[in-house]
Amino acid sequence: MTAAPATPMMTQYLALKAEAADCLLFYRMGDFFELFFEDAKQAAQILDIALTSRGEHLGVPIPMCGVPVHSAEGYLARLIKAGCRVAIAEQVETPEEAKKRGGSKALVARDIVRFVTAGTLTEEALLEPRRANVLAAVCDVRGTIGIAACDISTGRMELEECAPDRLGAALARLGASETVAPEGLEGVPPDTIPRSPRDFSSDGGEARLKAVHGVSTLDGFGDFTRAMLAAAGGLIAYLDHVGRGKLPLLLPPVARSGDAALAMDEATRASLEILTTAQGTRRGSLVEAVDRCVTGAGARQLADDLSAPLTDAAAIQARLALVEWLHDDPLLRADLRAVLRALPDLGRALGRIVAGRGSPRDLGQLRDGLSEARRIHDYLVQRTERPALLDALLPSLTGHGALTDLYARALVPAPPTERGQGGFIAEGYDAALDELRRVSGDARRAIAMLEAKYRDQTGIAALKIRHNGVLGYFIEVPAKHGDALMAPDSGFTHRQTMAGAVRFNALALHEEASRIAEAGGHALAAEEAHFEELIAAAVAARHAIAATAAALARIDVAAGQAERAAEGGWCKPVISDGLGLDITGGRHPVVEAALAAKGERFIANDCRLAQHDRLWLVGGPNMGGKSTFLRQNALIVLLAQAGGFVPAEAARIGLVDRLFSRVGASDNLARGRSTFMVEMVETAAILAQATERSFVILDEVGRGTSTYDGLALAWAVVEAVHGINRCRCLFATHYHELARLAESCEALSLHHVRAREWKGELVLLHEVSEGPADRSYGLAVAKLAGVPAPVVARAKSVLDRLEKGRAETGGLAAGLGDLPLFAAAAAAPEEPADPVRERLRDLDVDALSPREALDVLYALKRAA
Ligand code: ADP
Repeated sequence: MTAAPATPMMTQYLALKAEAADCLLFYRMGDFFELFFEDAKQAAQILDIALTSRGEHLGVPIPMCGVPVHSAEGYLARLIKAGCRVAIAEQVETPEEAKKRGGSKALVARDIVRFVTAGTLTEEALLEPRRANVLAAVCDVRGTIGIAACDISTGRMELEECAPDRLGAALARLGASETVAPEGLEGVPPDTIPRSPRDFSSDGGEARLKAVHGVSTLDGFGDFTRAMLAAAGGLIAYLDHVGRGKLPLLLPPVARSGDAALAMDEATRASLEILTTAQGTRRGSLVEAVDRCVTGAGARQLADDLSAPLTDAAAIQARLALVEWLHDDPLLRADLRAVLRALPDLGRALGRIVAGRGSPRDLGQLRDGLSEARRIHDYLVQRTERPALLDALLPSLTGHGALTDLYARALVPAPPTERGQGGFIAEGYDAALDELRRVSGDARRAIAMLEAKYRDQTGIAALKIRHNGVLGYFIEVPAKHGDALMAPDSGFTHRQTMAGAVRFNALALHEEASRIAEAGGHALAAEEAHFEELIAAAVAARHAIAATAAALARIDVAAGQAERAAEGGWCKPVISDGLGLDITGGRHPVVEAALAAKGERFIANDCRLAQHDRLWLVGGPNMGGKSTFLRQNALIVLLAQAGGFVPAEAARIGLVDRLFSRVGASDNLARGRSTFMVEMVETAAILAQATERSFVILDEVGRGTSTYDGLALAWAVVEAVHGINRCRCLFATHYHELARLAESCEALSLHHVRAREWKGELVLLHEVSEGPADRSYGLAVAKLAGVPAPVVARAKSVLDRLEKGRAETGGLAAGLGDLPLFAAAAAAPEEPADPVRERLRDLDVDALSPREALDVLYALKRAA
């Protein structure tokens, strides 16, 4: 038996599928999108819907599943979340057109109208309101990496360049949901979409940017390098491909310079849990603990601020001044936030409109949002002593009078999400449309009157005029009265007999119904034409609308920061050019919130780093609060440089250029490196990159290997950070032996988290105090954690034996006494001989009498 050849439909399907090999193909069939073959199996599994089959292909049943068009968005969202890409193949002609073209059996033509991918969504239902959705394009131009990033739901576009070894950090900051790069580019994430290298040319990118923005030079937008332009070219080419030639909203590109932002690499971002926790949730992250924005756009701006804190003191001050202004005036803040809360998401509504997926409701949102922006402007402009940043933002809130007037006249108060049904153009906007509506309204009234007339005429009180999609208007009577109307001269024509009723038509009814249909059709066409004009007006004003949306978001961020500060008793940090970090009563916003939820109090701690005391070793028992202390100080720096208040009583922050956070032996098995290897790679990065302006927190570095290795590495790392990088650093460790570094490192001091044993129980005080930790309380912590008593008792006897052995051999660090100074050997220039030191070294204390000792002391004092 030979298999039947492919049907025409399958031939069409397979041709479309070939264009979208890496996508699931949604093939439109009437009211459904259907998926076939492997696509069907995959989608059915992800969506948990029935997998069936339709017909055969080459003698084998074709697996199939389908989703209704009207609820397709929800299914799309789940597929995108699961990492799929989807191609939408629509019918691009009606069945009638197909028949006209190719006879009665002709297949309706279909085409892929759009690709739906994680980075190119605009639909409200598919986007998270409080998160930007970023698409990134990366390329390499002669050894320099160019990066273009945009959020097409709002049109924001940024270009930057960096050295190849900074690519990971740059991508970590962007947190893109989709990345594209020329095929074969190294160093990009594994799920990067490969594109033709030809798309990434700087000339092409420049030409495309000019075309998109209708300018003959990009100078007005900023300075862009070859690498940036090449990346922009790749980005736009991809958007062009995904939108099948229709580009989404793209605002003029902004050049982001690497130095303008506080540098943080991927590991630092992950360990500080800025936007998501280690488990990948927003809950428990820094942004969640800080975010009091009342608009989605504000929340997105805040996330952006926290991902890229500033390094320019003036820019930070400007943000802080606005937060302070709003902080100090609770009534103003409350009023403002109440108005902001009701704002629609202007930026995203605009994004949908420009992408060609706008609805009447989106236009209504522009009308309402832009009018509110004007009111906010009028309210704020009356205030005196406005901060400079606010003055800079205020003009962006106005200037839409013509557009909002137009929309106010043209649109009904609450326009629908569907444009196809009409009903969104307001009365009085278009006289012709009003007339059409009057005609169909009159006809509707006439039909109502006909019902009364027919009842009279037939004497059937139960007679009704009804309407449905198949018959249009018809007369319906209960079955027992059917015969009365059947008579040829009754004036009624039989249409349908149902179980309990009979349906008829009548000439007068038919005429009125035609009037309704005709006027309705014309009315729809008129509304459609108006819709296009209204959309065009928004598209023309897109840059100004986007600027308004951005200004509102910035105001919301400041008001939210002020609200958060007021709620938590946070303070305005003082930003300085010095190299100090002076925090009084600092707290960890996430840990504090978690404790508060349990009714427990957070213990505030000070941190005072200065040039002459720039490295703190923090010891103390596990669970004592070392990590929390380290992180809270890094977070305070981050929050301050993002332009917000900080959880402390007072904070004076010498601007930080790079922030590093490392946790010993964190699990990073996904990368296939041993945890210790990861720890060392990350530590190497700090030693290579940290400058005098940087701030580094190192938590239990060296933990991931044997005691001796770990101690030795921790020792050497501390020496290097202290003597070579000379950055501010907090170093948490449980190696007591490191305390001896205080003897040789002049800018290093010892601290510990306090604990006490009380009636045999361990009490963790979570207080950071000066001085070395006395002991580690490991067994007490084990007991606290519920390790059974006999096991703890056994551990205690093992420990005693170990400690006895250690005392006899001189301890773990016995040999370290005469270890030459690393910093001196590696970096510091030869120091002049120190006579006091030399004299001390040569002294045999045991051979001195008390009297001689006193003499030596006097002599030393004179020499010092
Ligand atoms: P370590 O790094 O010393 O092992 P952590 O910093 O992880 O300790 O803290 C352990 C737990 O102690 C935290 O989860 C928190 O519940 C509590 N804790 C830490 N710091 C404080 C503090 N300053 N005030 C109150 N509780 C704290």
